[in-house]
Amino acid sequence: MNDVAESKGMELTSVFAAASARADQWRHLNALARAWAGAGGQGARATKLRDQCGRLMQSINRFEYCWAYPGARLLEAIRAAHAGGDAAAFARLVQKVSGAMLSGDYRQHESAWQAGAESEVSLLDALPPDADGGAQARPYFEVLVVTPTDPASWQRSSDDMRRMRRSDDQFLYAPVHVGSFEDAALAAMLNSSLQAVVIVDGFGYDSAHAIPDMKAFLARYFDVDRDDIEPGRLATKLAHAIKLARPELDLYLLSDRSPEKLAGSEEAAPIRRLFHHVEEPMELHLALLEGIRDRYETPYFDNLKKYALRPIGTFHALPIARGKSVFSSNWIRDMGQFYGSNILFAESSATTGGLDSLLEPTGNIKRAQEATARAFGAKRAYFGTNGTSTSNKIVVQAICKPGDIVVVDRNCHKSHHYGFVLSGAQPYYVEAFPLTQYSMYGAVPLRTIKHALLQCKAEGKLDRVKVIDMTNCTFDGHMYNPRRVMEECLGIKPDLVFLWDEAWFGFARFNPLHRRRTAMGAAAALTARYRSKAYRDEYAKWKEANAGGELDPKDASLLDKRLMPDPDKVRIRVYQTNSTHKSMSAFRQGSMMLIWDEDFHHVEGTFQEAFLAHTSTSPNLQLIASLDLARRQMELEGYAMTMQMTDLAIRIRQAINTHPLISKYFRVATPEEMIPAEFRESGIKDYGEPNATWDQIIDAWDRDEFALDPTRLTLICGAAGFDGTQLKGMLAERFDIQINKTSRNSVLVQTNINNTHSDAALLIKALADLSSEIDSRLSQHDSAAQAVFDARVKSLMVDVPDLPNFSRFNDAFREDPRSGSNEGHMRPAFFMAYDEANCEFIKLASNDIDKRLADGPDMVSANFVIPYPPGFPIMVPGQVITADTITYMRKLDVKEIHGYQAAQGLKLLKPSTLTTSKASSTH
Ligand SMILES: *Cc1c(COP(=O)(O)O)cnc(C)c1O
Repeated sequence: MNDVAESKGMELTSVFAAASARADQWRHLNALARAWAGAGGQGARATKLRDQCGRLMQSINRFEYCWAYPGARLLEAIRAAHAGGDAAAFARLVQKVSGAMLSGDYRQHESAWQAGAESEVSLLDALPPDADGGAQARPYFEVLVVTPTDPASWQRSSDDMRRMRRSDDQFLYAPVHVGSFEDAALAAMLNSSLQAVVIVDGFGYDSAHAIPDMKAFLARYFDVDRDDIEPGRLATKLAHAIKLARPELDLYLLSDRSPEKLAGSEEAAPIRRLFHHVEEPMELHLALLEGIRDRYETPYFDNLKKYALRPIGTFHALPIARGKSVFSSNWIRDMGQFYGSNILFAESSATTGGLDSLLEPTGNIKRAQEATARAFGAKRAYFGTNGTSTSNKIVVQAICKPGDIVVVDRNCHKSHHYGFVLSGAQPYYVEAFPLTQYSMYGAVPLRTIKHALLQCKAEGKLDRVKVIDMTNCTFDGHMYNPRRVMEECLGIKPDLVFLWDEAWFGFARFNPLHRRRTAMGAAAALTARYRSKAYRDEYAKWKEANAGGELDPKDASLLDKRLMPDPDKVRIRVYQTNSTHKSMSAFRQGSMMLIWDEDFHHVEGTFQEAFLAHTSTSPNLQLIASLDLARRQMELEGYAMTMQMTDLAIRIRQAINTHPLISKYFRVATPEEMIPAEFRESGIKDYGEPNATWDQIIDAWDRDEFALDPTRLTLICGAAGFDGTQLKGMLAERFDIQINKTSRNSVLVQTNINNTHSDAALLIKALADLSSEIDSRLSQHDSAAQAVFDARVKSLMVDVPDLPNFSRFNDAFREDPRSGSNEGHMRPAFFMAYDEANCEFIKLASNDIDKRLADGPDMVSANFVIPYPPGFPIMVPGQVITADTITYMRKLDVKEIHGYQAAQGLKLLKPSTLTTSKASSTH
């Protein structure tokens, strides 16, 4: 990769994982330097190696100014050793730097920063042990200083800042100086160790470095137009740009402008604290540390640790608390040995002792939830301790009352459907586009959602449509464009509530590319948009061109027309649920409900009811603590981790699809294959060079109706003769690789914040082994074996069953059987099945089914039938079962089908029970 990096400047990988790409380069330089030192002083080989070192140094130096370490002093020493032809000194210095970068040594040891001979002075030596009593290293971060001062003075300024360090500082930091808007923007993007930016008023826009290839990229990525920046506003413009890319960073402004005046303004909103130029440097130092402390603080976990250390006699329930029933036991002592004592000491059923109550938080749970709202860009956050399965039910029940209509993706997780049963809301099922060839669904086209809304409008029941409920991103990685979806739906009904199930997508907030497609990101963007004068002007024009904003629901052209909401009527009402445990460091079942609802004051009461209805009165303390910790981690290293996991995913995609052997049998589906062209206006085909440039990717993520989350890799294995379940089993048994979801001919591989390059290598190795096994089996020229293999591949890849659409609710469960919209009363159908006399069974294989399909009466499902995979209900209570559902069921070769037992057959509501009056009496 180094040759590529040398020749092409900014590569896609360096955008996502600058840190690891850079470490690779330094490692490579280290190898070259050693070779040069070993080649003896003179001779052609030595000269060649020296030149190679020089070129690589140049390439490294292009962006090295973005990091504090190794810094100008060491870089200059390395350059001088190279220029002076001192191979031994060059190799020693390069070894030192690359070693320190790899081990992270420079974060703790002052000696790593010095070019001279080793003096083993450790920062640690001067420090007291950690507050916990352990000699734990203090966390290290870097501070970007953007300043108009002469670069010659930067080293001294850095040294001055380092001298501020005190032995009781909780954290260590090192400053890195840049002198322009562009350099600051680049550093903010590349340097994931940054936690704070000190902006000193008076710098210019243009980079001092030769980065012509980066200029357009930076303007696009940070959303700035250099000619648009008012004079004197560069500092605050930079603050806004950085916040857009990395909202977690603390920003400080040092300015001669009157800080009192600036402080309250919109312009200075992203700034954490303003300083007058001449103020005490110690003040700044303390402010920097305090900023980190705010994010580092985990109110609930911190208190739980304290609680665990206190000598407390318990007389409440939970004998396990403090381990007494365990450690004194003759029979379950291994429980204590396995779990350790802390988890038992941290158990309690009390809500006293500062432990607070999840059901009515007033103390540190309240503060932990507030910190979560801040971190995830929400107005409110609630912790869920029974997974997003329950969080979804809470939100649905909080917002919906019986009779409300929810426009919902039928492929939503079953918790939504159960939520409708509980709340009595009527689902209006809309269909995602099918990816029949992979036996999976995509996401619901905006056109389909608009069609549903307009149909309800035409039938005079738009006022009953309460919620739009979608999964973002889907299991297979389809990301909606929530800004676009919400804007157009709000154009039809300005007070719609949106529930975005982002179970998989909680991490997305911390990656600037993914964040564009999150519910909370969209809520913030739309709020700002509708408050702007520019939007009012745009809307006024639109209104004039569109019959004064009066939409005719029968006008089919509206489906393709961009719709806009009235800024005076629109409400931003967005709910997001995420399974924190699925993408962040929380214990299983840890979940969050994030809320940006301008009308939450109307919902707060019912939300509280729903929360109490579904939440245990004994929520797990460790789970709450882990939510607190997951938030801390994401706020401090979420950027680095999500960039890294994206980079890894793109590398795996490229490695598999370009591998000469593996790609004969396996393939990772590209955006082109996963998203039909009509939803992919940018025309993007794949991630990564040579198939896509960075601007295409940003374009696709900004504008396309759907984009594919690169971290979710659909690995197609049908061409290897494996169905998904088979490959999943083999990967687990033979290669210790666990994956989650499968389809008829694919498995889903996802990268996560815990994945490393070694994990990627393990997967590639496994696929290479499997491929060569198939290859050698088929190369034995046994035509019979080849024919069997071909037939197997054909059955997996070509003879795929059509996916059944939602048919309709039986008339007994519909208010108006003539209505064109498909919502229905699912709840009475669900409860009718509680009376066995109302039900009958019919075997899937029996001819009776075919007879009923041909001659009636309708077969009406009595319950949910949910095959795993794919995991969505192919039948819901009250639904009429049609031929394509039966065909699909008959072809389905999965073992796990919830709600269906082969021995009994399909559970139906008897036709005699379905007289409209009888069914509706249970409405
Ligand atoms: C996993 C999942 C859920 C349920 O979340 P849990 O935390 O497992 O209860 C809900 N919705 C979607 C889309 C999911 O993938």
